[in-house]
Amino acid sequence: MTKRRAMTPARKARIMVAHDEKCWRCKEGFENGERVEFDHKLALARGGTDDDENIGPCHVHCHKLKTFGGSTKLGADIFEIAKTKRLAKKHREPKKSKHKWPSRGFGNARYKKKLDGTVVRKEKA
Ligand SMILES: [Zn+2]
Repeated sequence: MTKRRAMTPARKARIMVAHDEKCWRCKEGFENGERVEFDHKLALARGGTDDDENIGPCHVHCHKLKTFGGSTKLGADIFEIAKTKRLAKKHREPKKSKHKWPSRGFGNARYKKKLDGTVVRKEKA
């Protein structure tokens, strides 16, 4: 995964200017003094880069919406990230059998069924 670089004030200012000081998601401006979050447009875990071009200023609520999903969970990062990890894990680990107990077979059964359908107790050998 790409390493995150420090978000310096200079970098934040640069990204703000590049986005016309507007939220990159809803395209609305920010209130004076409103908290601005810097969001990876394509999450790092999904292959995004830590370059300025992949980062946009974002309202806190817009950021939450992207990360945790809105009314539909489709496309929300945490679900996509979980999916990516799940698939990667599946790829790495060999599939384990779900059978915990091996069958002991019929060798030790006390009864046997004859061809005509009658069930008889096995004589001891
Ligand atoms: Zn917004």
